[in-house]
Amino acid sequence: MIEYQDKRLQQLNALIEMTALINSTLDPFLIRKKVIEAATKLLNAEAGSLLILNHKTGELFFEVAIGGKSEKLTTITLEKGVGIAGWVAEHGEPVISSDVGSDTRFFKGVDEVSGFITKSMICVPVRTKERILGVLQVINRIEGGFEFDDMVLLYAFANQVAVALENAQLYQESVTDGLTGLYHHKYFELRLKEEMDRSKRYKHPLTLLMLDIDFFKKVNDTCGHLAGDMVLRGIAQILKDGTRLSDVAARYGGEEFAVILPYISYKNALNAAERLRKTTEDMSFENIRITISTGVGYFDGEDPDAGHKELIELADRALYKAKNNGRNRVESMILSPIRKG
Ligand code: GH3
Ligand code: MG
Ligand code: MG
Repeated sequence: MIEYQDKRLQQLNALIEMTALINSTLDPFLIRKKVIEAATKLLNAEAGSLLILNHKTGELFFEVAIGGKSEKLTTITLEKGVGIAGWVAEHGEPVISSDVGSDTRFFKGVDEVSGFITKSMICVPVRTKERILGVLQVINRIEGGFEFDDMVLLYAFANQVAVALENAQLYQESVTDGLTGLYHHKYFELRLKEEMDRSKRYKHPLTLLMLDIDFFKKVNDTCGHLAGDMVLRGIAQILKDGTRLSDVAARYGGEEFAVILPYISYKNALNAAERLRKTTEDMSFENIRITISTGVGYFDGEDPDAGHKELIELADRALYKAKNNGRNRVESMILSPIRKG
């Protein structure tokens, strides 16, 4: 009995720790990753996954998975109601199965893709008061079998996961632009100021790109505003795909975008800008071809008096130059005390 209580106490402690861990960030990607690592560790399981529910289709897709050949799982979607996970998402109730072979709801298709042999499983809904966000499942206990209390523990954890995911989503919505999903102007300025302070403190370089679509008015005039919006989303996607996690891509306003590139050299910053220019030039947005002009403002981190607004002005001046020099090109300017003087 004491041994049992010890084990439960340890698990409860772990639960508190894991909950604190997933609440330590508002980045949805990091939360999901931490969730699945925590769940498998908490229950000493061989593998685990977090599936997210697509409310339009009722399908579940593997958002993150660990154990076995789990990387293959991210290509699978489970149709509505399929598998134990599908049942859990539909009914909103947890399931513990010590022998999935004898559970008629079990769907073998996932193991066939992952090359994993599922023996036992706990699957719990991840839900808020209003709706089910997805399901969390752990597979095969490393020693012994899963117990009822394990399910209770995972269910408690899943409730915390739902809160963390909802918070992250609300936060994400509050700092992004609805049309493009990029950060909005206010957040961009806040981050640029932070990055500028960091750049000066550590004497690291900082680059700001200002990008403006060439002759965008013509797209609206000839193809309509909806086509214009589609192009804006397309450019946003190019910026998301073409930048690193530590970069900040924002919609500066209308058809102007800004990208903050911390830490990289002047040469690499120019290369990054040139890559984005070329990708845009080569892309067809449902047969609409467009180009962008880019102004690069570069700060080497050395001048303690430099401010983030100066860097914006500088990148803007470089952008103006790119427009004047024929568009579809990159121009750059370096922020330096000499230039200011
Ligand atoms: P330039 O090469 O000099 O940049 O020419 P341009 O036509 O792109 O520049 P201008 O600033 O004259 O026009 C920008 C246009 O962007 C005008 C505006 O109607 C359009 N625009 C701004 N925001 C949006 C939006 O959210 N959706 C759509 N469809 N168009 C937008
Ligand atoms: Mg403009
Ligand atoms: Mg323009």
